[in-house]
Amino acid sequence: MSKILSGKEVSGRIKSELKEQTEILKKNNIFPGLAVILAGDDPASRVYVNNKKKACEEIGIYSEEYTFSSDVTEDEILDLIDELNKKDSISGILVQLPLPKHIDEKKIINSINPKKDVDAFHPVNVGKIMTGNYDFVPCTPAGIMELIKESDIDITGANCVVVGRSNIVGKPMAMLLLHQNGTVTICHSKTKELKEVTKKADILVVAVGIPNFVTGDMIKPGAVVIDVGINRMPDKKLVGDVEFETAEKVAGAITPVPGGVGPMTIAMLMKNTLKAAEINAKKGVNR
Ligand code: NAD
Repeated sequence: MSKILSGKEVSGRIKSELKEQTEILKKNNIFPGLAVILAGDDPASRVYVNNKKKACEEIGIYSEEYTFSSDVTEDEILDLIDELNKKDSISGILVQLPLPKHIDEKKIINSINPKKDVDAFHPVNVGKIMTGNYDFVPCTPAGIMELIKESDIDITGANCVVVGRSNIVGKPMAMLLLHQNGTVTICHSKTKELKEVTKKADILVVAVGIPNFVTGDMIKPGAVVIDVGINRMPDKKLVGDVEFETAEKVAGAITPVPGGVGPMTIAMLMKNTLKAAEINAKKGVNR
């Protein structure tokens, strides 16, 4: 039986700390605000946006939501971002991905002022993560680092295997582990003999988007297993990318789905929004 790394519990602790920090900021006339942009009618995106709004309310962060139908034009979104970039009451801007297919996601992300880019997807922030000198860390990898801290494994010198190389999860995850002195391997859809690689991992992070992809026989006994996947099955049940039943018999610590990485992602978004408010108050968004 492995230790369950409960993101629900850890994120609850982090959110109450953030609530206290928000009160202090407000006493110092710094008012954090988050704008969330949603385009299209993806039901999962709707749920994520609702959860983000709810977290803002819990913590005391002002929030605005902008919803567009799936036939929104690129210019409409760009104009809104331009307005939000200049708006004093907004410290952070989040564009919920994926966007409708006819919209160029890169162009939209590049238009966000890097100082308000609380998702840390703008190339300026991506570059800063690479050098290790960053203000914002992408929310999912940042949340995973917090969960790893809850396990008994020291990242220094550990074999860390990240399965998945997306810009949102896999790549920044690998960088954060590297900054903490992990020996990092990134696997992807073209990796050969995947099991041989995952079997050597002391810390295994799985972000592929395939239900129950990693099974117990692919895991080193005692490893920390972080399951990033959120897959909705035909019976509406949510499952991860790791087959929990077989994995938890081998792993030393494991995250559940739901209640693992998901709530941590939202807590880290809130943390980034407070950081953005502080940075913008100190330096101004245009400097
Ligand atoms: P993505 O589709 O952008 O990337 C998937 C990655 O998996 C790719 O890099 C690909 O190379 C790799 N892959 C695909 N098939 C593979 C195979 N057979 N062997 C090895 N690697 C393979 O996905 P993403 O945005 O990184 O998301 C991954 C999963 O994490 C999804 O289920 C998504 O819903 C979930 N997710 C969860 C959170 C959260 O907060 N919990 C946040 C972001 C994404």
